[in-house]
Amino acid sequence: MIGLISATAAGAAACDRLAAAWPDRTRRYPGPVADAVRAAFAECEQLVCFLATGATVRLLAPLLRDKREDPGVVCVDEARRHAVALLGGHAGGANALADQVAEQFPGCRPVVTTATDATGVPGLDTLGWPVEGAVAAVSRAMLDGSPVRLVSDAVHPLPALPPNVAADADGAVSLLVSDLAVEPDAGQAVLRPPTVTVGVGASRGASAEEVLTLIESALAAAGLSPRSLAALATVEAKAGEPGLVAAAERLGVPLRAHPAAALAEIPVPNPSRAPQDAVGTPSVAEAAALREAGPGADLLVPKRKSEPAPGAAAMATCAVARRRPRGRLAVVGLGPGARDLLTPRARDELRRASVLVGLDQYVAQVRDLLRPGTRVLESGLGAEEERARTAVAQARAGHAVALIGSGDAGVYAMASPALAEASADIDVVGVPGVTAALAAAALLGAPLGHDHVSISLSDLHTPWEVIARRVAAAAAADLVVTFYNPRSRGRDWQLPKALGLLAEHRAPDTPVGVVRNASRPGERVHLTTLGALDPADVDMMTVVTVGNTATRAVAGRMVTPRGYRWQEARA
Ligand code: SAH
Repeated sequence: MIGLISATAAGAAACDRLAAAWPDRTRRYPGPVADAVRAAFAECEQLVCFLATGATVRLLAPLLRDKREDPGVVCVDEARRHAVALLGGHAGGANALADQVAEQFPGCRPVVTTATDATGVPGLDTLGWPVEGAVAAVSRAMLDGSPVRLVSDAVHPLPALPPNVAADADGAVSLLVSDLAVEPDAGQAVLRPPTVTVGVGASRGASAEEVLTLIESALAAAGLSPRSLAALATVEAKAGEPGLVAAAERLGVPLRAHPAAALAEIPVPNPSRAPQDAVGTPSVAEAAALREAGPGADLLVPKRKSEPAPGAAAMATCAVARRRPRGRLAVVGLGPGARDLLTPRARDELRRASVLVGLDQYVAQVRDLLRPGTRVLESGLGAEEERARTAVAQARAGHAVALIGSGDAGVYAMASPALAEASADIDVVGVPGVTAALAAAALLGAPLGHDHVSISLSDLHTPWEVIARRVAAAAAADLVVTFYNPRSRGRDWQLPKALGLLAEHRAPDTPVGVVRNASRPGERVHLTTLGALDPADVDMMTVVTVGNTATRAVAGRMVTPRGYRWQEARA
């Protein structure tokens, strides 16, 4: 629960606003502020105080106990220009809350002062990879901007590191990224990339101790750090073998099961009869290690057997593979324009990347969100294929890449040319965005309430005959139609032609919505009809949504009935 506290009329109005926006998350604390702060501090996980920071600090001071347990506190000034994360930035969630509060008041800015968030430097412990050695000293140097030498045995898909962290930096501290079992030097932190996979086989009843001893000795033989272990892998028939399950649990990694038929197809140096007869593949340990590690993996330790107790038979086998570090391509839709229609997930992916690829005007839209040190590869209109190739090439080189597009990046945009180029040796993540048709529909009313289709009128890459055929089919099928790329200076006859095809099946009074720059500066929403639409009102910043035969204008809004019988019955 978020406790809301205010002392003045303006503050009370602001509390009303938050309470209305977040009815289930907020509780008002009226009355004298000292009592209100004390009560809210005891009862809520977070507080928003419409009070000066000084007053809030004095009221909070006697209440503070432990930074892991105290609530997060955000202070907002009387004019609602600043939302200050005052207390509990990380653990109390005040940094994130300051962002959310600021979004509720036009012109209000979040003020965040904790070091990692303020400077955009990724905390070494926030990457999801184990880290050891001089973590505090290296983090401090990263934040202070003093040189940190980066030592890496390969390109790993890390987020952007600040410019003071570099291979040629000359300083007292260094950051090593490696899966090798080296002891950190003084002043060195080591990040452990998850590159090691261990394939394991076991006879029924093999003990976890026997499996663990075997794995430890195999990793030691290859000089690999157990902290870089990504997974244990075995054949499906052994997925429930208690010794394997317990070993994976103790190592803190998943136990992945592969089908015998898939393992049988992996070429290995040491196939044998016994597993073929028992589980249907000539190799379990080697094949599972390699398959789990993926394309381009190396087998570093071939199959070895556990040391049996005197007089007993060996019960377990293992083999170790190392994956080629896999680059990461995030295809990110930025939404139609407004910052609050950019999803939190898209924002996270922009900050997860070290390389950003996109059209210059979209890059400008999000530049302030990027971490310092992000490499930006921007290009102009028309360079789509080159952008797609660049993004894929950067990911194949091992980097974490974000390829951006407006609206949804998969709708008449970069996702398809990029994925047509992409190979199986990179990870691909898609982040959906609010596409222009949806942004426009929300402004128009409810035009997409029944079956609908989007059609691009750009005949640069699609022959006009194909476009016309699709428009005619949509007309005959009585689909609501949204036209993208409807009209540009050099392409002015396509829109009237397309509207003409629709008019063969729809009355002249069919509602048509024309939305220019949805959720961007210069936004314009115009509701007209098929008969009255002036194509001169339409340009490349516009989408045009034509209703079906049931679409009506209601109170100035475009409404397509859902067509359910109960609605007809009521009407
Ligand atoms: N990927 C984008 C579409 C790219 S095609 C998306 O999902 O929205 C470019 C066309 O999209 C423009 O010619 C225009 O028709 C439409 N468009 C994109 N953004 C728009 C906006 N904010 N307002 C109105 N139309 C927009």
